[in-house]
Amino acid sequence: MNPDLQGRVALVTGGGTGLGLGIATELGLAGAKIAIASRKETNLDKGLTHLRSQNIEAFAVKADVRDADEVAKAIDSAEAHFGVIDILINNAAGNFVVPAERLSPHGWTSVVETVLNGTFFCSREIGRRLIQQRHPGSIINIIAAYAWTGGAGTVHSASAKAGVLAMTKTLAVEWAQFGIRVNAIAPGPVETEGASRQLWADPNEREQLLADIPLRRFGRVEEIAQVVQFLVSDRAGFITGTTLTADGGESLPHARLDAVNKLRKTSLS
Ligand code: NAP
Repeated sequence: MNPDLQGRVALVTGGGTGLGLGIATELGLAGAKIAIASRKETNLDKGLTHLRSQNIEAFAVKADVRDADEVAKAIDSAEAHFGVIDILINNAAGNFVVPAERLSPHGWTSVVETVLNGTFFCSREIGRRLIQQRHPGSIINIIAAYAWTGGAGTVHSASAKAGVLAMTKTLAVEWAQFGIRVNAIAPGPVETEGASRQLWADPNEREQLLADIPLRRFGRVEEIAQVVQFLVSDRAGFITGTTLTADGGESLPHARLDAVNKLRKTSLS
C-alpha cells in the first residue's frame, strides 16, 4: 500500500459512482479514511460496498450539495465518525446535452446549483472548520476542460465549471495563509456510466468525440484519480490555485491535424 495519505480524512462528493468512486478508492488505497456523500442511497450503498471490499475505512452520508444546511450536517456526521476532514474533493455534478435555447430555467438552475453552489457550500464548510482548528488541508475541484473554451450543448455545465475555476483561484489565495491548498483538475471525456449515458449515448457521437481527442481514446478513471492523489499529497505541497488538465489533448487547437496527416502520407509514399 502507498502510505502517502495515512492519517488523512477525505470527503468525496458524488463518491458513490464513476470518477468520484475511482478517486475515493485511490485515496483510500493510499491510506486516507474516506467519507462519500450524495443524494441516492443506492449509489452510496454500492460505493461503500466497493470501498470496504478494498479494505478501505469508509463512511457514507446522504446529502444534496445544493443545500448548505444538509452539507453542514453531512460534514458534522462524517467528522463525528472520522475526525477532522482535511481533504475535500468537489466532484458532484449534473450534466446533459441540450441546445442552449431549449434549456429550461429549472435545468439551468439544477446544474448551476449543483456545480457552482455545491462546490462553494462544501468548500466554505470545510474551509471554515480547518481555519478555526488551524489544521492544514487540501481541496480539489473537478471541473472540465470546457471551463475555458465553452462547450456546445453544455452551456449550464460550462458556465458553472468556469465559475468553479475562478473559485479555485480565489480560495487558493485567501486560504494559503492557513495552509489550505485549493486546486482543480479538468478532465476531458472519461468513460463513466453517467457520462456515457448523458453525453455520448449515440454511437456516432461517441465516434466523433473520439476522433476529436488527439490521443484517440477516452480517459480512464484511474488516470484522473492518480492525479487527484498527487495533488492532495505532500508531494504537491507548493502547488495551489492551479488546474491540471487531463484530456488527451482535446482542448488544444487541432483543426489542422487531418490536413497535416494527409501531408504526412503524401511525403512518405
Ligand atoms: P456521475 O457518475 O454521474 O457522477 C455524478 C455524481 O454526482 C453522482 O455520484 C451523483 O450521485 C452526484 N450528485 C449529482 N447531483 C448531486 C447533488 N445535488 N448532491 C450530491 N451529489 C450529487 O459522472 P462522472 O462522469 O463520474 O462525473 C464526475 C465529475 O467529473 C463531475 O464533476 C463531472 O462534471 C466531471 N467530469 C467528468 C467527465 C467525464 O467524461 N466523465 C469529464 C469532465 C468532467 P447521486 O445521484 O447519488 O446524488
